[in-house]
Amino acid sequence: MTETIHLTIDGHEISAEQGKTLLEVAREIGKDIPTICFHEATTANALCRICVVEVEGQRVLQPACVVKAGAGMKVQTRSEKVIRARRTILEMLASTMDLSEAPEIQNMMYEYGASSSRFPEAERRESEVIDDNPMYVRDYSKCLLCWRCVQVCADDAQYTFAISFDGRGFDTQIGTFFDKTIPETSCVLCGQCVGVCPTGALKPKREFLLEKGMSAQEINVLNTGRKQRKQR
Ligand code: SF4
Repeated sequence: MTETIHLTIDGHEISAEQGKTLLEVAREIGKDIPTICFHEATTANALCRICVVEVEGQRVLQPACVVKAGAGMKVQTRSEKVIRARRTILEMLASTMDLSEAPEIQNMMYEYGASSSRFPEAERRESEVIDDNPMYVRDYSKCLLCWRCVQVCADDAQYTFAISFDGRGFDTQIGTFFDKTIPETSCVLCGQCVGVCPTGALKPKREFLLEKGMSAQEINVLNTGRKQRKQR
C-alpha cells in the first residue's frame, strides 16, 4: 500500500503519495513549475535545471523533476532565489543558441524577465542544417541538449539507438555514431525524436521545405522522384 506523506509547498500543507517527485506533487495542487528537458514520455534527468525549487535546509536549489517529495519538507516554488536561477538559465540559453522556434521558452523568458543580451560575449552554438534523409532535418544551432530525442530513440520508447551525445564540453552535440548520415544508421524514421524536440532543432522535412518557399505540389514531385529512385 502506498504511504501518504505530508509536506508544505509555498506555505500550503499538503498530503502526497510517497515516491512522487516534487514536480508531480506541486503540479497536482496547481503550482506552475516550468520544465524544458522534462517530458512525460522520457526519463527525467534534471539536465536543464529550469524546474529548480528551494527546499528548507538544503544548501542548493533542487531540481523538482527528479527529487522525491519527503515527509516534512518545506518547499518554495517561486522564491527570489528560484526566480533568479530560472532567469539566469534562460539568459544563458538565449545567449548561446537560437530560440526562434521555441515559443514555450520564449514565453518563459517574458515571464521571468530574462534578457537575451545579458551575456554578449557568450559563444553561440552554430551549425549548418543537416538535410540527409527524407523525413526530417536537423539544425543543432537550435539544440539545447535536453536529451529527449536520444531517450525516445533509445530505451524510453523506440529501442533504435540511432542517435546519441557526441563530443565533449561546449562541443557536445547530438549526433549519429561515427557521424554517419541518418539513412546509414539504425534509424527507422519513426519521427518520435521530432515529436519531442522542444526547440525546432528537429523538424519535419515537409515543414522545412514549405518554409523555404516550395509549394506542396513541388514537394510531392520531389518525394515521388525519390521513391522511384529507391525502387530502381
Ligand atoms: S535535438 Fe531537440 S530533442 Fe534533441 S537534444 Fe536537441 S533540443 Fe533536445
